Amino acid sequence: MPQASDTVFSKIIRKEIPAKIVYESQTVIAFHDINPQAPVHILIIPKKPLVNISAADRGDLELLGELLLVAGEVAEQEGLSKGGYRLVVNNGRDGGQEVPHLHVHLLGGRKMTWPPG
Ligand code: AMP
Repeated sequence: MPQASDTVFSKIIRKEIPAKIVYESQTVIAFHDINPQAPVHILIIPKKPLVNISAADRGDLELLGELLLVAGEVAEQEGLSKGGYRLVVNNGRDGGQEVPHLHVHLLGGRKMTWPPG
């Protein structure tokens, strides 16, 4: 797997390619997925080039917590809190991860099914 700093998400962080950004802090950025799988599909990512959960360690404790809290704040901002929403983190090949930069998918605006494919 290439280093996370090489990915399209790092280019979005550096503003080298456009994205519909809905939240940004010093450590986290959130933007609309380019290929939405639900009426609302937003990605919440750390600015730190962490490949995935498997690559995280105890030093990332605060950052990982922040990602989930921001996901909840963005969901609220998007009007999803009342009806509900789904957060997904794909990890590695079998997890269906395509972009090797940690990201939380926020999906909402429709009823989700279970189990996922
Ligand atoms: P995953 O399969 O979990 O790695 O998800 C990667 C996600 O990144 C997919 O849902 C893609 O549609 C999305 N994606 C890829 N390139 C871009 C981009 N330039 N802007 C926004 N989302 C993107």
